Amino acid sequence: MDAIASEAPPAAKIEQVEIKPAKPQGLLQFTIDRSDQVNTETTGISPDIAICKDCLNDLKHQPHRIDYPLINCTNCGPRFSIIKELPYDRDKTTMEKFEMCTVCREEYTDPANRRFHAQPVACNHCGPSFTLTIRQGKVAPKSLKEDLSSEVEGDHQIVNNLSAIIEKTRQLLMKGEVILTKGQGGYHLMADAFNHDAVNKIRTIKHRDHKPLAVMFRNIAAASEYAHLINKEKEILESWRRPIVLCKQKKQINSLINEGIETLGIMLPYMPFHHLLFKKLETPAIVLTSGNFSDEPIARTDEEAKRKFQELIPASIFYNREIYNRLDDSVGRIIYNEFRLIRRSRAYVPTMIKLPFKVDEIFAAGAEMKNTFCLGKGNKAIMSQHIGDLKNFETFQFYKSNIERFKELFRVEPKIVACDLHPDYHSTNHSEDWSEQQNLDIEKIQHHHAHLASVMAEHGMDEKIIGISLDGTGYGTDGHSWGGEFMIADLQDFERAYHFEYVPLPGGDKANKEPWRMALAYLYNAYGEKLVELPLPFIENTGNKKLTDITSILTLAKDLPLTSSCGRLFDAVAALLGICHENNYDGQAAMMLETIIENDPGDHYPFTNHEKSISFTKTIMKIIRDLLNGVSKATISAKFHNTVAWACFETAMKLKRQTGIEKLVLSGGCFQNKYLTEKCLQLCNEKDFEVYLNKAVPANDGGIALGQLAVAAKRRNSHVS
Ligand code: ZN
Ligand code: ZN
Ligand code: FE
Repeated sequence: MDAIASEAPPAAKIEQVEIKPAKPQGLLQFTIDRSDQVNTETTGISPDIAICKDCLNDLKHQPHRIDYPLINCTNCGPRFSIIKELPYDRDKTTMEKFEMCTVCREEYTDPANRRFHAQPVACNHCGPSFTLTIRQGKVAPKSLKEDLSSEVEGDHQIVNNLSAIIEKTRQLLMKGEVILTKGQGGYHLMADAFNHDAVNKIRTIKHRDHKPLAVMFRNIAAASEYAHLINKEKEILESWRRPIVLCKQKKQINSLINEGIETLGIMLPYMPFHHLLFKKLETPAIVLTSGNFSDEPIARTDEEAKRKFQELIPASIFYNREIYNRLDDSVGRIIYNEFRLIRRSRAYVPTMIKLPFKVDEIFAAGAEMKNTFCLGKGNKAIMSQHIGDLKNFETFQFYKSNIERFKELFRVEPKIVACDLHPDYHSTNHSEDWSEQQNLDIEKIQHHHAHLASVMAEHGMDEKIIGISLDGTGYGTDGHSWGGEFMIADLQDFERAYHFEYVPLPGGDKANKEPWRMALAYLYNAYGEKLVELPLPFIENTGNKKLTDITSILTLAKDLPLTSSCGRLFDAVAALLGICHENNYDGQAAMMLETIIENDPGDHYPFTNHEKSISFTKTIMKIIRDLLNGVSKATISAKFHNTVAWACFETAMKLKRQTGIEKLVLSGGCFQNKYLTEKCLQLCNEKDFEVYLNKAVPANDGGIALGQLAVAAKRRNSHVS
């Protein structure tokens, strides 16, 4: 009985052990029976698991699995990515078409074998296999042309022998080519991380100019040369989930990987194929990035991958086991000693999140960007994998079909749909249509309330809290764009106690992408039209045309959209410092502002407390003075971060005095900023507060659905009782 807990396999999650006495039943053998049709109870589905140590060893020694690139056992291998239906038996997965050979079947049916009932079990004789396709002509390495292990089909050369595949792949990577490769949850683009031209090609192919790319290192030792790794990071990198971990860079690999950013997204090999490949590769690191064009979902089928990339990429590595559920690599970062997810997908989904109350038959639609949705079953939340930006047509199609897939797979028929207040989110519109067509109740939940509720749901909290929600944007109950919010909230409702002072959003949505607009809005607040006289490089660089345009907009328009966003405040400061004039990807300005900090100067800028809001006009004026006095940007940035943290701390203290509440919840995209979050926690320490943060779901909009689910459930439960 003890062993069930103490010797559980690494990926096992034991929720509860129940012990009941029973009379001997004369059972002489241990067997696993065929599953009956699954009833309506919640049945967990395992997430995908990185290759285990035993299988790595079998790759070298087990005769029928020498170098078998899809080796797996009960402790490792694909799960959610290949499951079509429950119960989880082989014939309900994409392994269905592969007939087991006698050796595999013997292992599969032997309770003493590590592969007993391992559904994707396979070997070199009976399992799916790899193929490398190279476009003939200029890119095919010479040696290949005489190679007997390849055949020619039209203008393509096809290689089926694994060692030949790996050797050709090595040659192509060394030549600086980009290769399309089938990963566990979707297609990846692969290139030598040290080859400038190759990485540049990836950026061109993906239409992704600036956003940092993730790198797969051969092992921890290689990664340690390029990143300062603390033990906790090593532990996560080597765990069976093998996510991408954002770490502090030690030495730059290649400026094109993470231009202007001092963090590096690192992962370690997780598929057997990755290990086999690195055995032959000279380079210690490859770029491995999702096979998609910016904002589209990761390619899932061979056809999709071919259609998009075949013309652009000279070589592709496929295998003939189908991916059923697509999964990006998950991403996270250690903040305040905990690994916190930023993108929840492979190896985390579809692990359910337990809540302290019923969330049955509720669908939560999520946000617009970084979308995930959530289904409630019993007292569990089933979060979808990362879906992405719903403004993209293909991503929205994936969203809709994935909802159907989750409903079927987990047998949930929602009676309530919960969504954001934002009238233009695709997720909101989809929910409205759905509720109308099927006559379902719809529950709309304010964005920042949902952020805070996501933390409460994760931690099983159901009470009044002080909440701080800092992010880029979210629709407020007054129609303005919120994002620097202090709330007294419980799961049902919230009171907006304080917020960052409103500033105009010159250009509306454009201001979200162009930090220089926000810089002007803040300067205008501080200096009025005199801002043009400031002897700042920022003013010069902005140019007269833009300056007069925007200042006249600011002067004339009384009814510009307003924002209390913390993200936009970060944008403004980044632009003023000349670090980031325009955002090429979401959160760029804030990331660049965080990355330049060298150490904590200890002090902060002044800010002003009004009755219901906090003004940063004085902060901006002092930053300008520091800039003109030649204070380093690193120091200004750190002092600015400290200012926001102090504003959080002082306001939280004020709310604590008013309400007596000691539980403080922090959420929203700004809390992916390690420096800001850790500074806040340092100030709001155990003496004054019990602080709660996101961990299992992202603090960004990828966690919104969980919060929506919890709020909708509480509101319904209160009607019922
Ligand atoms: Zn294994
Ligand atoms: Zn076999
Ligand atoms: Fe948000």
